[in-house]
Amino acid sequence: MKPAIRFVGAGGAHDLAWGNSAALLTWEGYTFLIDCGFTVYPRLVERGLIEKIDAICITHVHDDHIGSLSALLYHRHFLSQLPPLPVLVGTAELQAKLYTYLHFLMGFVERFAEVILLPAAQFAFVSAIPTSGLHMPHMPSCAYLFSSSTLHLLYSGDIGQPVPVLREPGWVEAHQPLWVFHDVAFRRVPTHCYHEDLYPWLGQAEVWGYHCDPAQAPESNQLPLVHTQFLL
Ligand SMILES: [Zn+2]
Repeated sequence: MKPAIRFVGAGGAHDLAWGNSAALLTWEGYTFLIDCGFTVYPRLVERGLIEKIDAICITHVHDDHIGSLSALLYHRHFLSQLPPLPVLVGTAELQAKLYTYLHFLMGFVERFAEVILLPAAQFAFVSAIPTSGLHMPHMPSCAYLFSSSTLHLLYSGDIGQPVPVLREPGWVEAHQPLWVFHDVAFRRVPTHCYHEDLYPWLGQAEVWGYHCDPAQAPESNQLPLVHTQFLL
């Protein structure tokens, strides 16, 4: 079964054409927005999707992942008159940084959002996989795993290597069927995952790359990219 995921954008940090990488995922009856970079809010407004979101997951605090979060929260509060939106994070340091950022921009954060550290009872089917320091030094970050009785979905966030759980013995077998949405780079850089480094999992999971420009992919690339069929 194909997961109900649509990428609002699938490009790299400065790729305005493809937009900041972010996704809408419907899971267990909830619609999650994963990340809210500076190109995301306008696209959600254009599509009439601002009110459809039930919770947000934030992978890390770079601008291409949180740059329009306050705009979205203001819109929901003042225009849509909706209650505070759950904003899920996976590490206490990420929670503290995100709260401080929102407090700086918005003042009384609790009017607009509830910054929740996973695990959380209401979202028991979402777990965070800490990846702090693997995207950039001193940058708290996490991947997210969504699980149901029929499907598992791993969303990597930005990370300079395959999400480490993939290398744990038995982890992939224990999470079948598994869909992996992973950041990719087509040249070796410390901040994003080199596409060929994901090849070992191509036969064991449905692996899809995002956070890239398909035009930069070499002819030899074997990794499917979300741009072909998971865009909003
Ligand atoms: Zn980043």
